[in-house]
Amino acid sequence: MRPRSVLTRPLTCFSLAALCCIPLGAAYTSAAEAADAVTPRVQDTWDLSGVYPTIEAWQAAVVQVNADADKLAACQGHLREQLRPCLDQRFAVQELANRVNTYASNLSNHDTRDAEWQGRAQVAELAYTHFDSVSSFFAPEILAIGGPGVEAAIAADPGLKTYAYYLRSIVQDAPHTLDAAGEQLLASSGTIRGEPDHIHGLLINAELPWPDITLSDGTAVHLDPSAYTLYRQSPKREDRALVFDAFFGALKKYQGVLGATLGAAVQSDWFVAQARHYDTSVAASVDGDHVPAAVYATLVSSTNKNLPTLHRYLRLRAKMLGITDLAYSDLYPPLVANNRTWTVDEATALTLEATRPLGAAYTSQMEAGFKGRWMDVYPGLGKRGGAYMDGAAYAVHPFLLLNYNGDYESVSTLAHEWGHAMHSVLSAKAQPYATADYATFIAEIASTCNEALLMQAMLRNAKDDDERLFFLGSQLEGLRTTYFRQAQFAEFEMAIHDQVEHGTPLTGESLSATYLDILKRYYGDKEGVTHISERDAMEWAYIPHFYYNFYVYQYATSIAASSQFSADILGKKPGVLDKYITLLSSGGSDDPYKLLTTAGVDLATPAPYDAVAAQMNRVMDQMEALMAKKAGAKPGKKGK
Ligand SMILES: [Zn+2]
Repeated sequence: MRPRSVLTRPLTCFSLAALCCIPLGAAYTSAAEAADAVTPRVQDTWDLSGVYPTIEAWQAAVVQVNADADKLAACQGHLREQLRPCLDQRFAVQELANRVNTYASNLSNHDTRDAEWQGRAQVAELAYTHFDSVSSFFAPEILAIGGPGVEAAIAADPGLKTYAYYLRSIVQDAPHTLDAAGEQLLASSGTIRGEPDHIHGLLINAELPWPDITLSDGTAVHLDPSAYTLYRQSPKREDRALVFDAFFGALKKYQGVLGATLGAAVQSDWFVAQARHYDTSVAASVDGDHVPAAVYATLVSSTNKNLPTLHRYLRLRAKMLGITDLAYSDLYPPLVANNRTWTVDEATALTLEATRPLGAAYTSQMEAGFKGRWMDVYPGLGKRGGAYMDGAAYAVHPFLLLNYNGDYESVSTLAHEWGHAMHSVLSAKAQPYATADYATFIAEIASTCNEALLMQAMLRNAKDDDERLFFLGSQLEGLRTTYFRQAQFAEFEMAIHDQVEHGTPLTGESLSATYLDILKRYYGDKEGVTHISERDAMEWAYIPHFYYNFYVYQYATSIAASSQFSADILGKKPGVLDKYITLLSSGGSDDPYKLLTTAGVDLATPAPYDAVAAQMNRVMDQMEALMAKKAGAKPGKKGK
């Protein structure tokens, strides 16, 4: 049985990783960064004493998880007669295992140098793994009971209603579930199937010899992936071109091995899809959350239809940068500079103001969270980098880790992570534990909806038109990278899987050719919008997400859904707010696609994708009006 959302691992970190919000990766706060940090106010640190008052209490809970997990063995072979008591027991152990993990993982992330806490985090993880392995008989035994048997049991025992979705999901997956021996064999191939990602990581993060370059001001740069991400934003055009030439040039030298590595990952996806009796790899992947294949297809076709909106943005970018021949290396410098900073109190006040359209109950619960020491705000020595929300302590409340530095990105990340937190709060309030955990497919809706609402508050509070242009420009670039770029990645993933499924082997050269083709179409090379060169074709080679088996499309679909929600909520469309809050309160009580269609957003239709394009066009209308106003104001001033 494939893992479903309800079985997800303890630390529920939702983040758009390096693609959108602050990366979650291994980038720990440097000593230099933290050196300036002052001792934070108590209210800006989190308080985990509500999870466990002492380390001793946590240690006792770990012992209990292991002991209670062992007791599950008594259920083996007896689920048919003991279904409800055994499920009660199973979910109680899982809840406790998650709670134990929340405590240890958050405190170890607070100072990753502390070996004692790293050890405790591992102990907690082992307890979860132990629970996972001793409870693995549940799915095959439920399958053996069969659909009619499961329905009869649910009808006979009202206490099973809580577990109805869990039980029905297992039954629904029956055609794609193997017998015990087959499942065992597939599970044991997991380590080998993970190797392409591992090899790619080793090459990119450790062994590939990244070039050393000298920027126009004499700065010497060792151009590894993090330096690439930083210096591609350079305001100087020749530096950006140098960075792209050198970075993609270094990848090109390893085109063959990087191609073989990605080819192996795609073969592995196809191997699993065939073993599970699916026609395509994409069908196998999206069916994990019971998302219809039409969602993926509609995302790709609707995005292609809306490419003129992306092209409009790229033309506007060229104009604002004062360039007539936009290149792929010109996409990352900000359109308008802004050095303004906000205190965390200002950021929370702005987030409260921004989310007022979500209703008084939403904002008052969030305000209680702000006052309740749920988040650890500032960077510190040894603290894990990036930002995340951990909603795994079901009976307590979510915890949030930030590395707040006061810039607009930080304010926006705060609003984003609190969107996740409120999703968890509303879900935990309305759902029993067994159906509280929501699927990845809908996880980025509440967060990106908050970001869209925050934008309105920022525009209202902006000091002047330049600042308004800065906010609008950030929003545009955010929509390019979280929507268009992810849809483009999704299309590439589908194309290369399709090639393998039709017997065409993947090579570095063929991957570059496929990537170049799609990149040229998205960025309007033929239309003269952006010049895409052979050099840019190597971009595929460093993106880790192509090893995640059709993961990135969910960024694009989530932002499409939240675009539709935020536009309708701000437009006060009747009934939408209630449906949105109901969606967040529904947690994982049904298939995420069904929950979303009930809330009025059908990701298998073009409407949500058109909503993203409409949102971008509205932003550009506003920007062009502001620019026209500025251009008109200048001669007037001169005349005075
Ligand atoms: Zn997120």
